[in-house]
Formats: sequence, C-alpha cells, structure tokens
Amino acid sequence: METNLYPIQRDIENLARFTATPGQGVTRFSFTPEDRGAREYIKKAMAEAGLSVREDAAGTVIGRRQGKVEGPVVMLGSHFDSVRHGGAFDGTAGVVVAIEIARVLEEHGVSTVYPVEIIAMVEEEGGRFGAGLFGSRAMAGLVTYGQMELRDDSGISLAEAMREFGFNPSEIGTARRKPEELKAFFELHIEQGPILEKEGVSLGLVEAIVGMRNYQVAITGRPDHAGTTPMDMRADALVAASEVVQQVRKIALDVGGGAVGTVGKMEVLPGAANIVPGEVRFTVDLRSHMESALDELHSRLHSAVEQACAREGVTYTLEQVSDAKPAHLSVVLREVLEKEARARGISTMTMISRAGHDTQIMATLTDAALIFVPSKDGRSHCPEEWTDYADLKQGADVLLGAVLAVAEAER
Ligand SMILES: [Zn+2]
Repeated sequence: METNLYPIQRDIENLARFTATPGQGVTRFSFTPEDRGAREYIKKAMAEAGLSVREDAAGTVIGRRQGKVEGPVVMLGSHFDSVRHGGAFDGTAGVVVAIEIARVLEEHGVSTVYPVEIIAMVEEEGGRFGAGLFGSRAMAGLVTYGQMELRDDSGISLAEAMREFGFNPSEIGTARRKPEELKAFFELHIEQGPILEKEGVSLGLVEAIVGMRNYQVAITGRPDHAGTTPMDMRADALVAASEVVQQVRKIALDVGGGAVGTVGKMEVLPGAANIVPGEVRFTVDLRSHMESALDELHSRLHSAVEQACAREGVTYTLEQVSDAKPAHLSVVLREVLEKEARARGISTMTMISRAGHDTQIMATLTDAALIFVPSKDGRSHCPEEWTDYADLKQGADVLLGAVLAVAEAER
C-alpha cells in the first residue's frame, strides 16, 4: 500500500492560494478569510476521504475514522496557519500528507483496531496573536487566560477573533483530550534547515525538540553628558549590556551540545548620541534539548549579568519570562518509523528539532513522533520554501506504514 504523489501536490498548490499576500508567499493567519478558505478546503477533502469531520473549541479541524474499538486514538497531522510571507509547505505539508493517508486507507477498505484522527491545527505559528502552539495547547488543556487576551496589530484579542469567526472561547476547555484517549501522535513537517539535504538523507526522525527559556534584562546606569563626564566617572548601561551580549555567545559555546543563545532585541535609553546610556533593556533567548544544559545556561547568564554590572557600577533586573521544557519523543514510535523506512529502502537519520512544533505539546499527552522531510537550501518561513514532492511522498509512505502498524490494521 502506498500514497499518491498527485493529490499531495494538488492539495499543497490549492491551499497555497488561500493567502492574504498573493504573489508574495503564503500569509494565512488564524480566524481570517484565508483561514476560512483553507479550512473549508480541508474539511471537504477530509469528508471525501470518508472521515467524519468536526472542529474543536480552539478551531482545530479533526477528521475521524472509526476503529473496531472506541479508543485510544492514533492522531496524525500538523498545522494549517502560516507566518507572514511564509511558504506553501510549513505545516500544510503535514496536513495534506495525513489526509492522503486517510484517503488511501479508505480506498483500500482498511479496517483498524484503533480509530485514526487526521488533525489540522490552528494558530501554531502565533503569526497573528503571538499565541503559538494554540491548537495543541488547547488539546493539552494548557491555554491560559493571558493567551486568550493576546491582541493582533489592530487590537483584536484572540478571544474576540474566535467569537467573530463562530467559535466560543469560553468553551476552550472542551478541546482538551485526556492522555488515555490517545494512543500516538505523528507529525510530518519540513525540516526548515539544511541538514537532510546536505547529508543526502530522505527522512529525519526527531529524538527531541529543544527547550527554550526567554529572559528580559534591564540594566540601569546613569545618563550623563557625553562630553563633560570623564570616562572613569560613568555608569554606562550599554557598556555593561554589550559585555552580556558577548558573554551569551561564549556561554552557549562553553555549554556546547548544540546549545544556542541570542540577544535579539535591545532598547537604549534615552537613546541620544550625546548622552551616556542610562538604561538598556534587552531580551535573551536560550535553547537546548537538555534540561541540564538549560539549567547551566540559566545560572551562567545570571553570573554574567551580575559581573558585568558590578564592573560598570550599574544595577539590573533579570526576569525569566518563559520556560518551555525540552520534549523527548517516543523511542518506540521512532523504531516503528525506522522499520517502515528500511522496508521501503528509504534512508533516515535521527535529529534534534531546533524549532518548536505542536508535537512538543502533544508529547505531554501521549507517545509522539516528528518526521522531517528535506527543505531545499534549508529555506523556510519565506516564499522560496520548497520540498520536492517525491520526498514528501516518501515521508507519507513511511508514515502510512507506521499508522497501519500502530492503529493495528488487519492486513
Ligand atoms: Zn510549522
């Protein structure tokens, strides 16, 4: 049994038309007319594949195929929103492949012991509201009131946009799935990096998704005249901040294991050429797939800020604003996928995902697996984003094999 290339290509090309920026990539934010168009297309394709279709309270589209028993469910899918001026494959590829798998199961009259659900998640990118991983968070019962109140550029909150679109935000709790309802979660996604292409390998089987800690630092010195204040009498907040920027790079390199650290946003106050900087506010983003490495990055960041500020005679506040734990994906499911790939002569390698995915949230509920397909030149989140359809079909075939095995198809 195998999937077909043509419907995968057709659905990706058709879904790329639901964009707010035609000719300039895919811009499909949640709860917009473009979301509506793509959503109706997905619901129709799911229904034609014999699935019974519903939407949960978060707005995620779910197509269900009955099993011999009521549950637990084998879920597969990805997200169908995009970033601004993104590509046609990020998220959409995983949704389209999952629908094609349902189609193949239907055409071959396959019956499985466990039910299969095809998932098209909403608001994964957080492009409109900054409420990333929203669909999966709702399934895990992790949506907070603060997230519902996040606002887009025109001041509309996520809750308001949902209500306007026909969903009831106060029912968000009903989207929650219990761990015992789920048997496995599979997501196929483009790699968004250059490794598979460079190594000449067809599929990446992800072992872990990096954890991420974000910090907000404010350093307070003393604003003084840039001409009349001698160098040894200054308390320059930017000099201290610059040292922290250098240290963030050094700390990540020292900790190693692929750990990364970034200062991506900085504000200098009062921000004049002729005034010694009195205050600097900046962000720090630290990532690793190991919790112990995140702990070390965390404590070394604290001492770096403390030492830099002491040297310059300035004060500081350092606040951690988010903490996403590294997700370790299922070894058992990875072995199932490896076996299916080997049987088809498709090459695989294990990988770490350095970007966030719905799979990391679903891994808190059930055994979860993430399959990467190659990205041309490693490009993503841009109109040039591309994956060869033949590569997508290979990923789809391996995923089909794994679904047949885990949902226990009668062969
Ligand atoms: Zn994505």
